[in-house]
Amino acid sequence: MTQEERQQIIEVIKSDINKLTQKITELKEFTAPVSPDDAIGRISRMDAINNKSITEASMRNLQTRLDQLQKITQVVHEKDFGLCIKCHKPIAFERLKIRPEIRLCAGCLQR
Ligand SMILES: [Zn+2]
Repeated sequence: MTQEERQQIIEVIKSDINKLTQKITELKEFTAPVSPDDAIGRISRMDAINNKSITEASMRNLQTRLDQLQKITQVVHEKDFGLCIKCHKPIAFERLKIRPEIRLCAGCLQR
């Protein structure tokens, strides 16, 4: 991996972390406790609770990805970065640009 490619990956990681942090903040507002207030009616309250669990699930996914990205920021400067952790072959740059947190090459991922 060239220095320039590494720099591009770092930029992707930074902007992804920003986007995820923003999304999580937005979702947190949606998952505020559902008010037992009857004003919204029983059906809407069920809806609100259902939506809440969907939102919470996607929030967990975002949080997981955010954690992975934050871990990657600690290793992105190491010379092994961009190499598959299993077979040590380079991971395709195009894949790293989309998912900088991946640590396995396409071959190992399929196995
Ligand atoms: Zn591999």
